[in-house]
Amino acid sequence: MSHDSSKYRGRFAPSPSGPLHFGSLVTAVGSYLDARHNRGEWLVRMEDLDPPREQPGAADRILRTLEAFGFEWDRDILYQNRPARNDAYRQALDLLSQRGVTYPCTCTRKEINENAVPGVEGPVYPGTCRKNPPSGRKARTTRIRTDDSGISFRDLICGHIGQNIAAETGDFIIRRADGLFAYQLAVVVDDAFQNISRVVRGSDLLLSTPRQIYLQQLLNMPTPAYAHLPLVRDAQGVKLSKQSMAQPVNDRNPLASLLAAWRFLGQTAPERHPENPAEFWSWAIANWDLAQVPVDSTAGERASSRETSG
Ligand code: GLU
Ligand code: ZN
Repeated sequence: MSHDSSKYRGRFAPSPSGPLHFGSLVTAVGSYLDARHNRGEWLVRMEDLDPPREQPGAADRILRTLEAFGFEWDRDILYQNRPARNDAYRQALDLLSQRGVTYPCTCTRKEINENAVPGVEGPVYPGTCRKNPPSGRKARTTRIRTDDSGISFRDLICGHIGQNIAAETGDFIIRRADGLFAYQLAVVVDDAFQNISRVVRGSDLLLSTPRQIYLQQLLNMPTPAYAHLPLVRDAQGVKLSKQSMAQPVNDRNPLASLLAAWRFLGQTAPERHPENPAEFWSWAIANWDLAQVPVDSTAGERASSRETSG
């Protein structure tokens, strides 16, 4: 893969746990427009890392929706669930183990819940197996040692974000009890592998970013710029998700959804209504303004529970 670090390279990384809904469309639109407005490349990565959560056919359906909406991606789609990627995640884990920053953990979720205080994303792991290395019991997960030094970064939308990972998430899982590599590890390895220079994604991942930066530092990988978009919520204020059965977007009427995503992202309405997606895109790429994207009101609150799937 050629490496030109001055070049903008963005990505959209859907998980194929269901069809695209309006929330994931907003993320796709925001990442695409930001990349194209900056004359960058835009890659699609299928995060099919978690077969138990996958919905058969969802990956292809997502790609057909992106096509129907007029998205054009660069290069080949990267699928996480391929032997080469699995080898890359394993190598990263081996490197971390060689550096002495991983340890086996035998704790069940129930044991952790009984002893832990709540953190930004589920309970803060109390460090049981770090302090008393397990003997006799079989390791369930592999955790990474965190430290108290604190990680901070400046999000291009949300501004300064600081987190003490040790206190706010605790030592986190990089290999799950079912043997699968954790999202946090895979996303770091793949963002580096694909030379991603700017990550534009939903604010549900804002508080995962310090963990990802921590892993990048341990693995000597560059840290991309980050921009976390506001989340689309339902009438009850709950984030739209495949789990909450959000309606899929309608492939036969892309223009209406594209304009709705544009408005949701705080962008100025076009003076002349575009006639079709192609017209929308050429106008939108020229007029995209990241500075107008609103900050998610609850971006700093606890995010999804993906990390607890140990
Ligand atoms: N696959 C994740 C999701 O669909 C996104 C991961 C990322 O953008 O880092 O929520
Ligand atoms: Zn443990």
